[in-house]
Amino acid sequence: MKSNIGSFKNCFVFLMTCILITTSLNSQENNKKLLDMTYPYEKNTIYWPTAKSFHLEKVSWEVSEGGWWYASNEFSASEHGGTHADAPIHFSQNGRTIDQIPLGEWIGPAVKLDVTKKCEKNRDYLLSVGDIISWEKDFGGIPDKAWIIMYTGIGTQYYPDKKKVLGTDKQGVASLPELNFPGFSVESVKFLITNRNITGIAIDTPSIDYGKSKDFKVHQVLFAADKLALENIANLDQLPASGAILYVIPMLIKEGTGSPARVFAVR
Ligand SMILES: [Zn+2]
Repeated sequence: MKSNIGSFKNCFVFLMTCILITTSLNSQENNKKLLDMTYPYEKNTIYWPTAKSFHLEKVSWEVSEGGWWYASNEFSASEHGGTHADAPIHFSQNGRTIDQIPLGEWIGPAVKLDVTKKCEKNRDYLLSVGDIISWEKDFGGIPDKAWIIMYTGIGTQYYPDKKKVLGTDKQGVASLPELNFPGFSVESVKFLITNRNITGIAIDTPSIDYGKSKDFKVHQVLFAADKLALENIANLDQLPASGAILYVIPMLIKEGTGSPARVFAVR
């Protein structure tokens, strides 16, 4: 009887060990498949030079009078900074706000257009229709509801260095002429809207329009067509050119024109 109980115990311990190993393997496996494409919100987070930056205040961070630990912060910021989503209302007067976009619409196949070499030579590079066609030659047609991601390498390499990402580390209106980074061409976005079924476009710089844009035409054209956008997305060097699914979870701001978003891919 004793030996039976002993072998039962051994068996139980063995089973529990198996379960633990399997669980930890699963979470390791999940971490390998999951790619976080979000920058943290903190004092260095990149915002447009005229926008309010992220500010965090520690309201309480101490043992309370009652003897228990109590920590609580307050934060404030512009909607459009760091890794964030743009809703159509941002540049389209009757466009949808963040809260009017169903959660499922934020999820779609990730199409990564690698133009890092072109952007390295030319910081004013504009993504061309040819770049889209050449991706399709290599990987097949753009899947339905895809996110078209422009991988410039600028943000991926240098974020959060403002001088290297934005082209300037100055603040305010006077700094705007110094903005200098690549973006989508108007033609490429018109092509995608007219000829392909996309969810939206995304980039690893602070704007889908290039830094020198004066009229934000890419924003205007994209949002007039009721599509979505993501800016300052992270870790594009680790995203495959095709086959991943992009998940975007924007903070649910009522009447939001944009919002901080947790962006990740399942590879
Ligand atoms: Zn924005």
